[in-house]
Amino acid sequence: MSEIITILNQKGGCGKTTTAVNLGAALAQLGRKVLVIDIDPQGNATTSLGINKSEIETSTYALLLGKCSFDEAIMETSTPNLYVIPSNISLSGAEMELTKEIGYHYILNEKIEDKCNMFDYVFIDAPPSLSILTLNALVATDSVIIPIQSEFYALEGMADLLKTINLVESRLNNPCPIKGILITLYDPRTRLARDVVDNVKTFFKDTEYIFKEKIPRNVKLAEAPSHGQPCITYDPECNGTKSYMKLAEELIKLEGESNE
Ligand code: ADP
Ligand code: MG
Repeated sequence: MSEIITILNQKGGCGKTTTAVNLGAALAQLGRKVLVIDIDPQGNATTSLGINKSEIETSTYALLLGKCSFDEAIMETSTPNLYVIPSNISLSGAEMELTKEIGYHYILNEKIEDKCNMFDYVFIDAPPSLSILTLNALVATDSVIIPIQSEFYALEGMADLLKTINLVESRLNNPCPIKGILITLYDPRTRLARDVVDNVKTFFKDTEYIFKEKIPRNVKLAEAPSHGQPCITYDPECNGTKSYMKLAEELIKLEGESNE
């Protein structure tokens, strides 16, 4: 059974792309077949996976506008078991184009539904906005992971985010349960980071699962994208790699428990 998970937060810089790429790579390392769908016109996941976004011939843009098929859109990466549907700035034009279509919130769903079966996990790397592209992701997804950076403004905008999820569920008729809240860029030495974790726990009041594994602030995670590879191959021993491996194991365990 494949599972589609959107990495969601309208804030930029909270670790969405880093999580889509490195959690994806960690699961691939554990033998799962993984697809990352880049729906951010910035194409950061694409670059992080070693693909030159100015040279791609097919993309999420082409897929959404019916210019290529799902199979044609998929590209291999240098990591075994890890595939990507790339994106670049042309995807920003898709927003305008899509609004001309009837039922434009449902187009990504239509393009990938029933076709993801060959993958164990599909991660959608969402843009930093609650745009039409993000809404398409939410209609297509099975669940969401919300990365929250441990900083003072961590929970700002969270009420809007949860409201958007609820509206997708009620108006667009797709359940999108929160698989988990992920603390990112965590530095346990600082009081602020520990306070943020407490605030996140209070905010979600035991209603949502908060991943036990917190992703540390780690320079190798920040360096790996410029080498066009996930941190797992860039530096297999660093704390960032170890943390995403543990997160992957936690996710697999969660799935096991929910399937029992
Ligand atoms: P988003 O996709 O939410 O905008 P990114 O994943 O692109 O966020 O992360 C923003 C920046 O922070 C990037 O430069 C990335 O390399 C860096 N970064 C993300 N997570 C970490 C981390 N755990 N440790 C160090 N740098 C990180
Ligand atoms: Mg990003």
